[in-house]
Amino acid sequence: MLTTVNIPTNNKISIDLHCHSVNSDGSHQVKEVLDMAKANGGNYLALTDHDTVAGVTEAKMYAKEIGLNLIGGVEISVTWDGNSLVHILGLNVDETNLNLIENLNKLRMQRYLRGQKIAANLAKVGIQGALAGAMKYADSEESLSRTHFSRFLVDSGHAKPGKAFDKFLAQGKPGYVSQTWASLADAVSWIKDSGGVAVIAHPGRYKFTRTKLLRLITQFKELGGIGLEIISSSHSKDDAYSMAQIAKNEGLVGSVGSDFHTADEGYRKIMVGVNYPLPDNMCKAIYPLLGIPEPVYKTIT
Ligand code: AMP
Ligand code: MN
Ligand code: MN
Ligand code: MN
Repeated sequence: MLTTVNIPTNNKISIDLHCHSVNSDGSHQVKEVLDMAKANGGNYLALTDHDTVAGVTEAKMYAKEIGLNLIGGVEISVTWDGNSLVHILGLNVDETNLNLIENLNKLRMQRYLRGQKIAANLAKVGIQGALAGAMKYADSEESLSRTHFSRFLVDSGHAKPGKAFDKFLAQGKPGYVSQTWASLADAVSWIKDSGGVAVIAHPGRYKFTRTKLLRLITQFKELGGIGLEIISSSHSKDDAYSMAQIAKNEGLVGSVGSDFHTADEGYRKIMVGVNYPLPDNMCKAIYPLLGIPEPVYKTIT
């Protein structure tokens, strides 16, 4: 049987444009994340913590020491179309831009208050101590995330690994608290005004109908958004192909990212810094817009 493989001919280029540290809901310090990316062969890494650029300065300094190219990034929480949660990545943003920092801080200030409400909801279904429990995993009140609640719920035996969202934390489940994050227009403008490019993160995760996804994309493009994340740990291979097709049709560039949060998850293994190529002959890649040389692949059959 013949199999086809893509071999990078300039295999020094390994690109990962989406990952997290303890500055949001990742479980590793910035330096640990970068060390892991480097050890996995990474060359270009964007640190994209939720609603903060707090780790980027440290990341850029440490990246220089270890010979990694660090791209300043952020993943902004957006409430769109009433009550849909969408994540917008800002890549190449200037981490010293005051407008960006101040607006992100306002979003982060809502997190602890929401955490108190999540804990109150969980108490109603018999789970006590969730706020203190979740805070044990969080670096600060402003970074408190549903991910930290999910770790608490799994470690305290209330949910099986990987099931805390389905059981308690996803929309419609007992612990869920609705929250108004940034508008799509604000998120894209903060990113653009700080010199970055905006990308819709993990579009396959939202489970939107095609019509709704295209409506999001149309609005996003009108606002100046340019990219769609194609490769993501939230995407199946089929998701990646259909998103690459949509990106091509819609004239968006494709992005790639692990969405790495932790090396300790147990039930699945997501690696940071590893390059997964975009599907062949489909959308254009985001790389030139970030000053990244395009990897060249040789197909061997
Ligand atoms: P928050 O910003 O606090 O609402 O938390 C959202 C985060 O929870 C995302 O960035 C993911 O890291 C994580 N998350 C969301 N949905 C799921 C899910 N179904 N399974 C595992 N993690 C999830
Ligand atoms: Mn996250
Ligand atoms: Mn996300
Ligand atoms: Mn993410």
